[in-house]
Amino acid sequence: MKNSLHSTVGAIALILAQCLPKAAAEAISLESVTADVLAVAGDQTLGRSADGTGIKIAEKYIADELKAAGLQPFFGDSYFQTFTLYQYQPKPFTVYINEKPVAAEKLFAVGSASAIDWQLDDVNITRIKADDDFRARISELNGQSESHLVLVDKAHQQIFSGFANYLKGGSKSLTKQNGKALVFALNDAQSVDSASIKGGFEQRKVALKNVAAVLKGKSLADEYVVFSAHHDHIGTHGLSNEDGADIIYNGANDDASGVSAVLNLARHYSVKSNNQRSILFITFTAEEMGLLGSEYFGTTIDAAQMISMFNIEMIGKASAFGPGKMWMTGMDRSNLGTLINENLPQYLKDENYRIEADPYPDFQLFYRSDNASLARLGVPAHSISSTQISKDQDYHQVSDEVSTLDLEQMTEIIKVLAHVSEPIINGKQTPERIQPMPARTKGNFF
Ligand SMILES: [Zn+2]
Repeated sequence: MKNSLHSTVGAIALILAQCLPKAAAEAISLESVTADVLAVAGDQTLGRSADGTGIKIAEKYIADELKAAGLQPFFGDSYFQTFTLYQYQPKPFTVYINEKPVAAEKLFAVGSASAIDWQLDDVNITRIKADDDFRARISELNGQSESHLVLVDKAHQQIFSGFANYLKGGSKSLTKQNGKALVFALNDAQSVDSASIKGGFEQRKVALKNVAAVLKGKSLADEYVVFSAHHDHIGTHGLSNEDGADIIYNGANDDASGVSAVLNLARHYSVKSNNQRSILFITFTAEEMGLLGSEYFGTTIDAAQMISMFNIEMIGKASAFGPGKMWMTGMDRSNLGTLINENLPQYLKDENYRIEADPYPDFQLFYRSDNASLARLGVPAHSISSTQISKDQDYHQVSDEVSTLDLEQMTEIIKVLAHVSEPIINGKQTPERIQPMPARTKGNFF
């Protein structure tokens, strides 16, 4: 009896749900959040390295969902913005100085020369001496454009190994590099009578994709409010998983959680369909390679049209302020946070609910996510997060899995974001511009 009553009620509810207009449905739901994070961060996307294959599955999912939500492509007739990444991976190097071989662990190289076969006269030789500032010298060499053999005093052994490790994956760039190289050898030879350096760099061109869609504004169509996240992560750790070990960096929190927020906000605003400003929903690639996707995107837009950017990073775990509560990076750089906190009481019954300032200023998070690429152009662009980054054990680990997320609190955060962004989306509030920052200084080698 009980069972049959339940199934009858269930059947009626199902029929009602199917008959109700789309607008009556709650677009932001635990179900849709769960479906998104599983689709983006499941093992099938192989950790979404920007230069890998698994990321394409996530990109297709995001574009399909934006289309299904009824949004228009942002890049002409495409949901994808495709651009080229140049990668230069060092091949094995052999170096002889004064006829003596330099051991592999005392050697690293960065550059873009496809084949190197240098003798003493073919290359500039420079030294990093024991009392030199290693970082300053490296940055000086990176700033000039000629090839060098760099002899590093053994006093710098530790930082030398650190840099060797940092650069072992080669260099990545949005522009073609100049075909030169810096070869570093930990070596105390006082005079160099002979040298032989053989090696080079494997060049690879990779097509990268940002994914975006737009909901055109009813009256202020040339003014955009941006919701963003990054859909890439750091891939797999390259070892075989024959022993059954987990090798996939799923990046469920970082940043499938943000991608799901972007998709749910797209569904929400599409159903509402009353936005006065245009809303851009975008997920960036290659954030983990140094904000490359957002940096490229920044070169293709008129930043003056971008009224504000909510970049959503790691909202899958409860913040130190409690579940469903979030914080914002760079709170003092524009008045976006102040405007949001003015709105909050009218939407939320909790008097104490506020968007909090980033509690981890030492991490410099304002500069470490895609909001920085637009903030540099003067856009009030901030990252929204909830993760306790100072003690998160899963950050950039294979354990950043969907099972570690609190999806209910995440759904709550997305609902709050939908409310607090509305006055800006409807043109009632306009945050102040951010003081533009100089472009990041790029070296010629890495
Ligand atoms: Zn991230």
